[in-house]
Amino acid sequence: MTDPYAWIEESLATIHRADWYRSVQTIHGKSGATVLLAGQEVINFASNDYLGLAGDERLIQAAIAAIQECGTGSTGSRLLSGHRELHKKLEEAIASLKQTEDALVFSSGYLANLGAITALVGKRDLILSDRYNHSSLKNGAILSGAKVIEYPHCDVAALKAQLSQQRQHYRRCLILTDSVFSMDGDLCPLLPLLDLADEFNCMLLVDEAHATGVLGKTGAGCVEHLGCTGRQLIQIGTLSKALGSLGGYVAGSASLIDFLRNRAPTWIYTTALSPADTAAALAAIEIVQQEPQRRLKLWRNLNYLKQLLQQQLPNLKLLPSESPILCLQLLSATEALRVSKELTKAGIFAPAIRPPTVPTSRLRISLMATHQAQHIDKLVAQLHKSIG
Ligand SMILES: *Cc1c(COP(=O)(O)O)cnc(C)c1O
Repeated sequence: MTDPYAWIEESLATIHRADWYRSVQTIHGKSGATVLLAGQEVINFASNDYLGLAGDERLIQAAIAAIQECGTGSTGSRLLSGHRELHKKLEEAIASLKQTEDALVFSSGYLANLGAITALVGKRDLILSDRYNHSSLKNGAILSGAKVIEYPHCDVAALKAQLSQQRQHYRRCLILTDSVFSMDGDLCPLLPLLDLADEFNCMLLVDEAHATGVLGKTGAGCVEHLGCTGRQLIQIGTLSKALGSLGGYVAGSASLIDFLRNRAPTWIYTTALSPADTAAALAAIEIVQQEPQRRLKLWRNLNYLKQLLQQQLPNLKLLPSESPILCLQLLSATEALRVSKELTKAGIFAPAIRPPTVPTSRLRISLMATHQAQHIDKLVAQLHKSIG
């Protein structure tokens, strides 16, 4: 008798041998610049909570009030029985932040990408996708059934060459890109991408997951930061990073959003965002708009960290970054794990990111507006000991 499940154990063993094995670590208490990790207080450089809003009392109170008013669950999909006034308010707030005609909230950013991409293109169409795009863009592309071609990271010339060769053979074409690349921290070349989209009659979908609330004068994201507000494009984002809640969104023209309400399967056939998550995200957008000082503090922290690293660890290989995500390239998965473990022992939480998530191993540091100078000092001092 052979065991049809035996391959799972063998696969796990292979993952272990490559030092690619991953498991969860339990966090206790409220999220913030410091957290309790397995009983030990650590400085948190592993969170996407860039503005420190996930533990903000105003979000907490908004979520509690929503639960008390509406209950815990949304109890149905938006088109059946799950739609609430809160959803409408949140979508209006997102559209106002993004300065788009309309917006649609999904249960997660991942589902927003899957739903939008599969609704927009199909078998007769072409997708061109940056090689470093987030998993949700890659899997959305596969699920859509369109022909998918990946172009080298941020390589506008290579993209143009592909468009020249391929565009004419397909009905519609969709270009997919992260705006802030989540495991690198660099930005997409948005202006040239928009120009290429115009030139070759393509749609452009930009994933603002790590940019919303963080980049741009009003916190609208990379599109605002790079001066592209008002240009025709499809913007995706999440409510779960700088906005400290859970959920995702698409922002764009009124007709795009109307179409998605009728055609995006991950929006139509899933339960509406919970009242608590919806209310917390709505409170977060108000704070993003009313408290630009949070963004300023985040950027000040980032400049301080970069300056210290340059002075004290000039030989460190930093990946190019224009965001609060800073990656230190390391030689191997084993080395990345060693450094990350040493940091944890010293009270600093910064994860090793390894293949297959990324092509090369690295230590990923993400900064928060609520980090204090002494947190950053401690990080650099420990990096000096572990790598310097
Ligand atoms: C985190 C992330 C997502 C997924 O968002 P969730 O709301 O966590 O599902 C999508 N795209 C990018 C680029 C991300 O970093």
